Amino acid sequence: MARYTGSSCRVCRREGEKLFLKGTRCYTDKCAFGRRGYAPGQHGKGRRFKMSNYGTQLRQKQKVKKIYGILEKQFRRYFTIAARVKGVTGEKLLELLERRLDNVIFRSCFAVSRAQARQMVRHGNVLVNNRKVNIPSYSVKPGDRVQLKPKDNLVKSAKETIEKIKDRGVPEWLKSDFEALKADITRLPKREDVGMDIKEQLIVELYSK
Ligand code: SF4
Repeated sequence: MARYTGSSCRVCRREGEKLFLKGTRCYTDKCAFGRRGYAPGQHGKGRRFKMSNYGTQLRQKQKVKKIYGILEKQFRRYFTIAARVKGVTGEKLLELLERRLDNVIFRSCFAVSRAQARQMVRHGNVLVNNRKVNIPSYSVKPGDRVQLKPKDNLVKSAKETIEKIKDRGVPEWLKSDFEALKADITRLPKREDVGMDIKEQLIVELYSK
């Protein structure tokens, strides 16, 4: 259950793009990348060197790990599974990441960030098919129903969150009910549902060396 506990904004600055790791703050002018859009550290503002192929692949992998909030060992495990199943490995990798329970809570607009969604799952506030599941990496499948526990304070804060971020939209593979705070998984996520600038082929190339 390990996770990265350092500064999220530092990660965006390292990757040179906004990764939206902090929820609503990311959409305001308090965003650190907006104010200091250069790499962190003493030499962050200095001359940037042309990155090697390996460096480009590595940075892409690091970026995806940080977006989904997972560490190397688990990420590698997802890759191994993706490489084993039938289909395009990079797309299968993203499909596995999207199917994580914490991601489903985030994508359904019940949490402002994957980090918050993860905490909601860890605290036992999420039900899958009416049973409590407190494992953020739990993989959902078509036909599953994900729901928040009907606790007063949780319902109140989830509804406030939805009001703030519902314009972001919910991907087509999820059918979210904002009133009942539940989401049905209608099908497996496809590559086009991911909707982020990810070059998954670079990760496949990196791990295939
Ligand atoms: Fe990244 Fe800006 Fe959000 Fe910080 S506030 S995590 S820099 S997008």
